[in-house]
Amino acid sequence: MVAPKSLTLVGEGGKGARIHDLVKAPANTPWAKAKQQSWDGNEPATVYYTPETLSDGTPCTAITVILRTKGCHWWWSSGCTFCGYFNDTRDDVTSDNLHAQWNKAKADFDDFKDHQMVKVYTSGSLLEDREIPVDFQETVLRDCNEMGKELIVESRCEQLTEKKLAWATSINDNFSVAIGLEAYDDEVLRFHVNKGFTTKSWDRAVANLQKFNLRIKTYLMFKPPFMSENDALEHGVKWISAVAEKSDEISVNPMNIQRGTVIDRLHRNNEYRPPWLWSLVEMIRRAHPLIHPKGGVNGDADQISRLIIHPTAGGKIRGAHNCGSCDSQVITAIENYAVSGDLTEFDGLECECQAVWREELALESDLPVPLGISKPRRGNLLNRLRSF
Ligand code: SF4
Ligand SMILES: [Zn+2]
Repeated sequence: MVAPKSLTLVGEGGKGARIHDLVKAPANTPWAKAKQQSWDGNEPATVYYTPETLSDGTPCTAITVILRTKGCHWWWSSGCTFCGYFNDTRDDVTSDNLHAQWNKAKADFDDFKDHQMVKVYTSGSLLEDREIPVDFQETVLRDCNEMGKELIVESRCEQLTEKKLAWATSINDNFSVAIGLEAYDDEVLRFHVNKGFTTKSWDRAVANLQKFNLRIKTYLMFKPPFMSENDALEHGVKWISAVAEKSDEISVNPMNIQRGTVIDRLHRNNEYRPPWLWSLVEMIRRAHPLIHPKGGVNGDADQISRLIIHPTAGGKIRGAHNCGSCDSQVITAIENYAVSGDLTEFDGLECECQAVWREELALESDLPVPLGISKPRRGNLLNRLRSF
């Protein structure tokens, strides 16, 4: 039997594969094409609501509208190593489609009347004219302004120019921009994430957002590809420290594996383990004094930013997980911390698997192997065999 093609950095002496080619290949496979054709361009991908906090700290509920779009312009030319959005985008989506999706979301949820916050996600950047027709950008900004909702949109850095923000704020001056920075480290952005922008472009975007008094939400990625657990933990704390002063909110996303991505291939080859939930707890413990220098909790005067961790697919093999028996307890504590900002949420959490996790961190700090040396993933034998 021929061994599966590995993505290890060691290689076999031949010319290395370009990360660009590895990222792009799956988008053209028959299953990806079939998935793209399977949905109706007049229906949003999904609409749901969750508990949230308004910018002044008031608890509220937020409606999240995920739209079907043409996708992200960076994806068209290259793409990030963990991004599976190509599964849900198609290049024939028009302004009429987007308006139909938006109207459907409003109709299905009573013009969002029970929700004070609206998040509009487009698998790319709402304010990017090549991805989203300008008349639709205007509809979202204007509607949310007229309905009196706090709006959150996502964007890469290069769209956030003074000119664009002057235009957007002339329609709606009460919105937050969430930027997927992933890492405050140019080496990681380039070689681990293939992000296509640098920390400098984030600095510039943030300066522009501040000029227009817009709120800034920063997404960081916990444990990007080609990184060990121990490095992820140390980097995670450093990046939170680097962005805290300039971010109203920091959302740390523990890696979850999306189908057809580079990280998916590493995972299938047993070369990547999604983060331990214990690492997230440890990162929060170390980062808390950076967010609350006087030891306070959310809402206290010492708060510099708000730190949120929501482990997508938490407890599953493709998301952040522990041993299986303590996962749900640890996830609940992490999610409670995002609301309270109180370290006592973690009091009393213990499990035998902590010893394994600690051992892995110790080994990885002594032997800095880029892919990490954690034991193969847990799970049943069938799943393990299928991952080879
Ligand atoms: S910038 Fe965002 S949407 Fe675009 S490829 Fe990267 S993760 Fe995907
Ligand atoms: Zn456990």
